[in-house]
Amino acid sequence: MSENTIIECNNLSVAYENGYVAAKNVSFSIEKGEYIYIVGENGSGKSTLVKAILGLCKKSSGNILFSESKFMCGYLPQYTAIQKSFPATVYEVVLSGCISAKKLFPLYTKQDRKKADNAISTLKINDLVKKSFKNLSGGQRQKVLLARALCCEGNLLILDEPVNGLDPIACEEMYELIDRLHKDGKTILMVSHDIENALVYADKIIHMNKECVFFGTPKEYVSSDVGKAFVHRHCHGGHDSLDD
Ligand code: ADP
Repeated sequence: MSENTIIECNNLSVAYENGYVAAKNVSFSIEKGEYIYIVGENGSGKSTLVKAILGLCKKSSGNILFSESKFMCGYLPQYTAIQKSFPATVYEVVLSGCISAKKLFPLYTKQDRKKADNAISTLKINDLVKKSFKNLSGGQRQKVLLARALCCEGNLLILDEPVNGLDPIACEEMYELIDRLHKDGKTILMVSHDIENALVYADKIIHMNKECVFFGTPKEYVSSDVGKAFVHRHCHGGHDSLDD
């Protein structure tokens, strides 16, 4: 692994308990400070890949190397109905982002509370802290979950479809926040359907179709066969080329 590499994935395959192989022979590497988009059709193994990186899903072969502990990365999971009805205040949800590093006993320290306060002011959600998480709008909820992910040690943020289900304004706001976190030094690995934004923001794109069928820059992507076809199917305006 080179000095700046933070994750290296070599020939990774993941099969679920029922034997279904959801990801096969996936290889790529992520450098410090990069903004990586994982794209692909529904069911193509994007979430599976993210979960394998986080150790939430067992790999069947290959390996994933980390320059630091995988517990040192913030994770914004894919939206589920359970999260929506989570019976906690916004502050408690943000603070719970400090738990994963300690595993067993979630007793919060002063330092944890400071981290939560910092995340809350970074994302400008101070006015929400006392509210019940379940009463928030979709956009507010995703901001809170992003703040939760920021509580983790380390500079890597793994985001699984953070703008899913949001209206265009909330969507744009999330992208701007994530872009700002990236500019402030975070490494971002994000699952997204939004190929138009991937072409604008990403340093590299991983295209999953069970296998990793493309890994490279947006410029390389739009001139690859897989990229051309995907962009054609998913872009309204049509991006056939990228300017320098
Ligand atoms: P994506 O994130 O690209 O939509 P997923 O990684 O969620 O795709 O799923 C990839 C494939 O693995 C899908 O066909 C899905 O049905 C299957 N899958 C996901 N989770 C499980 C599971 N726990 N057990 C069996 N199959 C699963």
